[in-house]
Amino acid sequence: MVSPMDQTLEPGLYIVATPIGNLGDLSPRAATVLRAVAAVACEDTRVTGKLMHHIGHKARLIRYDDHASDATRDHLLDLARQHPVALVSDAGTPLISDPGYKLVRLARELGIAVTSLPGPSAAIVALTLAGLPSDRFLFGGFLPSKAKARGEVLGELGAVKATLVFYETAPRLIDTLQAIAQLLPGREVAVARELTKLFEECRSGDPAEIISHYTAHPPKGEIVLVIAPPGAVQTSADDADALLREALQNLKPSQAAAEVARATGLDRKALYTRALELK
Ligand code: SAM
Repeated sequence: MVSPMDQTLEPGLYIVATPIGNLGDLSPRAATVLRAVAAVACEDTRVTGKLMHHIGHKARLIRYDDHASDATRDHLLDLARQHPVALVSDAGTPLISDPGYKLVRLARELGIAVTSLPGPSAAIVALTLAGLPSDRFLFGGFLPSKAKARGEVLGELGAVKATLVFYETAPRLIDTLQAIAQLLPGREVAVARELTKLFEECRSGDPAEIISHYTAHPPKGEIVLVIAPPGAVQTSADDADALLREALQNLKPSQAAAEVARATGLDRKALYTRALELK
């Protein structure tokens, strides 16, 4: 949608990914587009104002999120029909646990051109750092904050044979790790924190180890939590017995077998037979 001769932009909606901490990660193409659009739809005009200042351009900023009124959405779409309009979020890729889905859907329905400029997304950065299988992964957005709902999501997604990626907040991290230790025993986790920033770290291991580290050093900043798929680590017969014994303290043999199967990827029927022996 960029005219090759004069770098003017065709009308339409431009989804523009922005840095998640390091301004050097703004792509040259993203900067070119942000300088050329008629307006930038953004979550927070102060945050995006700083980004625009960084690229030395003052653009018209229009606050937008998926709860915006129909009038705001219609206004943006009218504009995008005649001019280039960018959509950004505070950080990272729009629509990835961020606003934009409704706007993109409507723009496409109305035949307005939509294009996306790829760039940083914390989920992908974390996945590349975690050292866990990356051939198949499931992005789960934010886990629910209430314990019961969080447990249900972990139970449901924990059965999927894929690495799981969640956005998390520092104050909730330890509670979530405790839930993982209880509901998905034996699954390695990685905590990727402050990605692309000065204090970037990625700490991986058994949830119990990570819990004790962050109990001693309360986490700060932004966090992505990555959970190994079931069976990523080969479970020995002794380890399986230990997990079954622990689960049998609170659960019936069938439930214990299901829980250990979910955590390890081992066969549930074989685990059930073994659970009856151990009971
Ligand atoms: N759309 C964004 C993206 O593509 O990364 C994500 C937006 S979501 C509202 C914000 C969450 O992303 C944070 O709470 C945190 O879980 C994660 N996040 C964003 N930046 C991060 C960073 N630099 N390091 C670790 N996690 C980050």
